[in-house]
Amino acid sequence: MPEIHHTDLLVVGAGPAGYTAAIYAARASLKPILVTGMQPGGQLTITTDVENYPGFATPVQGPWLMEQMRAQAEHVGTQLVYDLIVRADLKNGPGPDGYFRLVGDSGDEFRARTVVIATGAQAKWLGLESEKRLQRGGVSACATCDGFFYRGKTVAVIGGGNTAVEEGLYLTHHADKVHLIHRRDSLRAERILQERLFSNPKIEVHWNQAVEEILGSGEPEVVCGVALKDTQTGALSKLDVDGVFVAIGHTPNAGPFRHEVACDSDGYILTESSGTETSVKGVFAAGDIQDRIFRQAVTAAGTGCMAALEAERYLSGIPAMTKT
Ligand code: NDP
Repeated sequence: MPEIHHTDLLVVGAGPAGYTAAIYAARASLKPILVTGMQPGGQLTITTDVENYPGFATPVQGPWLMEQMRAQAEHVGTQLVYDLIVRADLKNGPGPDGYFRLVGDSGDEFRARTVVIATGAQAKWLGLESEKRLQRGGVSACATCDGFFYRGKTVAVIGGGNTAVEEGLYLTHHADKVHLIHRRDSLRAERILQERLFSNPKIEVHWNQAVEEILGSGEPEVVCGVALKDTQTGALSKLDVDGVFVAIGHTPNAGPFRHEVACDSDGYILTESSGTETSVKGVFAAGDIQDRIFRQAVTAAGTGCMAALEAERYLSGIPAMTKT
């Protein structure tokens, strides 16, 4: 039997942004409800060692860190609901009773005075079986997160946009050799980044190459190379590498919010330049759903905190911090 839930603050999404918003909202006595979505814990649940989240002197596991955030959010009074928001009526503002209405896949209705959208983004993957199999063995979509583990090693970066070039450049601080593999004969990345890439002696660009397979060896299996196919000639080749960074773009999880709040052409939610307010008053966005640049757990947590503080001010009738 579907239920109707009422709350002052509904958080949608269970990554660092969502949990942090919930922790702050609970401690402000807003009795938040957090709807977890399909992948509670978000992108950190598919990583292993996390070394760049402050507060831990030694590496922690991504899934463990998210489990701690969940426990902390519940401990301070957040109600977790394992559901997926499939409909959100936001663009016309709250109803006459002051509540926005959102509906879960279960049929449950969520009535909320404020909403924090923290649904995150997903890295795009090549779609290879070997890529999935080796995600805990040297395949990554985040050089800032995992580059450190390749000190003195050889890595491959796949893609030809700004992200791929930035990741390639970043990886030269750790790896001895970076192979940038691109499926065409020219890059999409900005000219200035291309110049930096071409002048870096540690980087070798492989043009017109599609990744056919990521190769693994050992037990537990780790990346040992990539099998390539020339997109012009069909010639096959192999490169020995210790890690593969897939940098072919991200997809924001805008789902039912895409046409309810203002988004850019790729579906990232637009927020105030120095805050988390969306185009709809009382609706805030935090984390990767509104950030295509930094995409870090700690920046997501930071904006989650901001969203909860802004929601609290909104509920108290105090003008948004960005407007004072
Ligand atoms: P982009 O969509 O710009 O680039 C994706 C790249 O991956 C393209 O080169 C594309 O190839 C390649 N690609 C896509 N699918 C595949 C596939 N299946 N197999 C092989 N290669 C593939 O994504 P980015 O993440 O680089 O950037 C997204 C947006 O974010 C851009 O607007 C970018 O400017 C911005 N950004 C800005 C930054 C900054 O300002 N510092 C940093 C990072 C991103 P092809 O070229 O052939 O289509």
